[in-house]
Amino acid sequence: MMQKQTTVAACVAMALGAGVTASALARQTASPDVERHVAAAREAAGAEHPRFFDYLCRAPQPRASRPVASRARTQPTRRQPPPRSDWYAEPAKVFDNLYFLGTRSLNAWALTTSGGIVIIDPLYDYNVEAEIIEGLRTLGLDPADITHVLVSHGHGDHYGGAQQLQRQFGARVLLSAPDWDMMLANTGSQPKPTRDIEVTDGQQLSVGDTQLRFTLTPGHTPGTISTLVPVRDGGRSHVAALWGGTAMRPTEEFYTRYVAGAQKFAAVAAEAGADVVISNHAIFDRADEKIEALATRGAGDPHPFVIGEEATQNMFKMIQHCAQAGLARLAR
Ligand SMILES: [Zn+2]
Repeated sequence: MMQKQTTVAACVAMALGAGVTASALARQTASPDVERHVAAAREAAGAEHPRFFDYLCRAPQPRASRPVASRARTQPTRRQPPPRSDWYAEPAKVFDNLYFLGTRSLNAWALTTSGGIVIIDPLYDYNVEAEIIEGLRTLGLDPADITHVLVSHGHGDHYGGAQQLQRQFGARVLLSAPDWDMMLANTGSQPKPTRDIEVTDGQQLSVGDTQLRFTLTPGHTPGTISTLVPVRDGGRSHVAALWGGTAMRPTEEFYTRYVAGAQKFAAVAAEAGADVVISNHAIFDRADEKIEALATRGAGDPHPFVIGEEATQNMFKMIQHCAQAGLARLAR
């Protein structure tokens, strides 16, 4: 596995333990209900989603042993970007019309259409140039063709590069209204794009010959967008499901919304015949392993990202059981 886990992005690291005290966490020990949901999630994860399961189903951990009082002092100073050697990953063609432009831990995607390029989750301000703009050029694509930037949710590791793409290429930027609000209120260091398109539940975006379909799945953030992305492999059509926000906040309200969102998007994905899973973090879709496998794929070999409709639906089952395990931990 080429992935290093040391550069896990902010929104993956943030949720576990956020908003709960150590004593509340101590009460969240195993119970038969918890074990039942974790076992069901493990079974649904199978061989396809083991890293995702390991991440999502573990019990919340308190954040280090940092005393609460010290947290305020570590807040909004402008942090130094990590060195390129910590995050840089090569761009890669994944489908005929979908390209990986992410870092070692954070995925960004370019969807090519007859009407321009759609970027999904434009990374941070400090690596949008190296990974997305230069990445497109490396792959023989023109960043001036970027027409839209979809931001799955309003966390800095996904929107930080949006302002530059909006200013430099005139790209339209899409978030849900609740996540526009959340992002624009954020005092963190990542630059914010100017408010633009507000994505609503069930909305479709047509760019040239291609349509993306959005489902609002609150839970990770108030207005997380999950997306169906049409992809092609050697002329064969597939539908990729992108679960827009993954880490769960350990509260009843968030777990409940998370389960409802997973059920809703699972139904939409099933109806569309989704048979591919992509994510905005490699620990969830194993993009790093699969891109490595693609490099040695022979003619006629299966595409490593095409996992089939059953395994795609199993991911949603796993997600729901992990969230229900979380609820069961709280109920004790
Ligand atoms: Zn996030």
